[in-house]
Amino acid sequence: DIIIGVLALQGAFEAHARALESLGVTAKLIRNPSELKELDGLIIPGGESTTFLKFLERDGFLVALQSFVETTPTFGTCAGAILLAKRVENPSQKSLAVLDITVERNAYGRQIDSTILNAPTKLEGGPLEMVFIRAPRITRAEPTVEILAERDGFPVLVRQGHLLAATFHPELSADTRVHQLFLSLVREHVSAEVRHS
Ligand code: GLN
Repeated sequence: DIIIGVLALQGAFEAHARALESLGVTAKLIRNPSELKELDGLIIPGGESTTFLKFLERDGFLVALQSFVETTPTFGTCAGAILLAKRVENPSQKSLAVLDITVERNAYGRQIDSTILNAPTKLEGGPLEMVFIRAPRITRAEPTVEILAERDGFPVLVRQGHLLAATFHPELSADTRVHQLFLSLVREHVSAEVRHS
């Protein structure tokens, strides 16, 4: 079956690995660029995007990750979504720039402003619990991006082809629908590759 990597340089990687394993999928913690090989998909967890960038600038990790995310299903949550975004503001910073969104970092205020919402989304199965922790705001999404959930009129869960991004932390809720969505995207991608080879 499929193997999903969870970038484990810092941040909320353990809970993602647990969510994946609860869905019967092998989760591999990724700490070196060479470990990106053999993965069917990758989760870039929440944490601090500036700290991620610092770690990634060592050992050619950023370059390896760049070509990985261009072709392989990747799910970025919170800081991970910031790393995938084409444009980052407040302040502007470097990113992998593969997902056609603009994000504003820390747009909802400081740590104390972290919130849990229950809101309807495009996912089946009723309202979704969404845990926001010093979340970025997606201030712009190009028409190529499908918006799956919103908060106050701004996208919080988006998909573009093989890429998925959430500004909240689905790994901190018991509900695994967002992880299941990512796994179905990975499986779709894997079977499309098999057909084409
Ligand atoms: N504020 C963090 C950043 O800008 C993101 C917070 C999170 O991942 N929970 O990178």
